[in-house]
Amino acid sequence: MSRWFTRQVFRCFKTVERIGDRITGAAGPVFVALAVVLLSIGAFCFFEIIQPSLPYKWLTTPICIVIALNLFGHYYYVCTVPPGFVDDSPRVPGTSVLWAKKRRSARYRALTGVRWSEELHITRAASSKCRRCGVMRPEVSRFRDIRLSMVGKSWKLRHDCERSHHCRICNRCVLKYDHHCPVRINQCVGIHNERHFVLFLVYMVVSTACFIGFGWRFVLVALGWFDQPWPYLAPPVCFLLTFILAGVLCMAVTAMAGWHIYMIACGETSVESQDHEHYRRIAKQRGETFVNSYDMGYLKNLQLFFNIGQDGYPYYTLLLPLRVEPYTDGRAWARRPGLQSHGGVHPGEELTDEDEE
Ligand SMILES: [Zn+2]
Ligand SMILES: [Zn+2]
Repeated sequence: MSRWFTRQVFRCFKTVERIGDRITGAAGPVFVALAVVLLSIGAFCFFEIIQPSLPYKWLTTPICIVIALNLFGHYYYVCTVPPGFVDDSPRVPGTSVLWAKKRRSARYRALTGVRWSEELHITRAASSKCRRCGVMRPEVSRFRDIRLSMVGKSWKLRHDCERSHHCRICNRCVLKYDHHCPVRINQCVGIHNERHFVLFLVYMVVSTACFIGFGWRFVLVALGWFDQPWPYLAPPVCFLLTFILAGVLCMAVTAMAGWHIYMIACGETSVESQDHEHYRRIAKQRGETFVNSYDMGYLKNLQLFFNIGQDGYPYYTLLLPLRVEPYTDGRAWARRPGLQSHGGVHPGEELTDEDEE
């Protein structure tokens, strides 16, 4: 009886969750339109009121313009560049001016799915079938085959492709799935737009901080304390509300950007960060240590995420709103030397999409 009851309650929760997904999915474009309007009002207030008051105009004007271009550019990319679905054909980098140019040394090197480098230990991703959308990746690693036959039917299949997850809102499998963001970008964050997502957060922090740092002097004028005229097109109320919003966003986005960059430095996505917590616990109970095989050290993890440094793109690509190809096609991953899978995780213990819900 109690089990039946629990199951009914669970089923009820699932239904509510699914309806919630559908509503947020439908409201997504409204949120995106709202975000574009707010960003534009913010930029207008800044360039009309604050920017003309800055010293060293020859230096500060170009910097302000570059920051604004990055903010809008990365926001545009994160909303429009598909996150990388498992059943999409592999992408090739574009040739338009919006694409960053590779280093000369890396330009003519043959790319076979991943950024080839002798110093990186790169393994093909293990794969299996998604129980939701039925996508099957053909490339199954031999190592995984051996482990499958070892544990027989008790083996719990991971995702259809290593590091990919099924998104319930898009109803498709996404390569290197991080999360689905219905509020700001109305799509998934995956291998192809994660770089733009993080850079958008960073430029959001920089621009809101500039707005507050250089704009506070105008707050008292807008409040009418000095009996000074307000010669600007943007009404004082609009400026004050934008200022308050910038303050709130600055704090919230700084925390969010910091957390994301920390996870990237650890070689994890948002989903993996939760999974690894679980693996760490069970490994500890056995007296073992969990080792994240994607973790190549803070600096290397960050370089691979942004695809910069040796064999990647030049560092200046971080400062321009350019499109950059990820270091991998999402079907092969750089690993710690000597590791084929995570250390301290036994066969059958890996979490599936169902477990994670
Ligand atoms: Zn799927
Ligand atoms: Zn999604």
